[in-house]
Amino acid sequence: MAEIINLLIDDVLPSKEDVQKFQGVKNINDTPSILIDSLELSMTLLKEKSKPIAIIEECSKADFKDIYLGEGQNAAESPLSHIIKKAEKLHLFAVTIGGEITKEINKHFDQNEFPIGSFIDSGASLTADNIVAVLESRVANQSTTLAYSPGYCGWHVSGQKKLFQFLRPDKIGITLNDSCLMTPLKSVSGVLVSGPSDIHIFDNNYSFCEECTTYSCIIRMKSITKA
Ligand code: SF4
Repeated sequence: MAEIINLLIDDVLPSKEDVQKFQGVKNINDTPSILIDSLELSMTLLKEKSKPIAIIEECSKADFKDIYLGEGQNAAESPLSHIIKKAEKLHLFAVTIGGEITKEINKHFDQNEFPIGSFIDSGASLTADNIVAVLESRVANQSTTLAYSPGYCGWHVSGQKKLFQFLRPDKIGITLNDSCLMTPLKSVSGVLVSGPSDIHIFDNNYSFCEECTTYSCIIRMKSITKA
């Protein structure tokens, strides 16, 4: 049965430093004071307008096999298809910080207040990621738990359809459009995979890795090996 979790914004709000680092600022002491003022305002608005909420449900490997297959558009080989086989527990999840924050971001871009819009946008993405991290810790229970999402690393974005059919994130206000994009925009969905840490370690030499712009798997794998 799905569980709906309301979170406190203070538990998932990123720091000002994290927002700046997310934007590629190397030395935050070099940030001009006018931008610091914009950042302060952005953090206040982010806190006011975000409504963090999550839905989570345990899922059997047999059910996930069908969900992962989705519309049959996944890469022939992917890290997740191998990781799942060695997993101990799976939970489907979806998280959002609501639609008000998107309106706030758009409002500032429309008013040519680019720094504020950009800071809130980055902060909102980090807040959603922080909710996922809370869920990872919540289900970990001595295992190493990481989230994997449709649209990344060989799991085709159309996989969202079956994931949504099973989990019903509409219960917390998240819907899917025909292109499999979520509304509200600042939402994340996927599967939390729990098991021994080494199941999350893999060689990132899949065909789709040639087009990767983030190589985020490296950071994730490093975080496991350091833990
Ligand atoms: S290199 Fe990029 S696409 Fe390949 S597994 Fe890592 S994050 Fe995914």
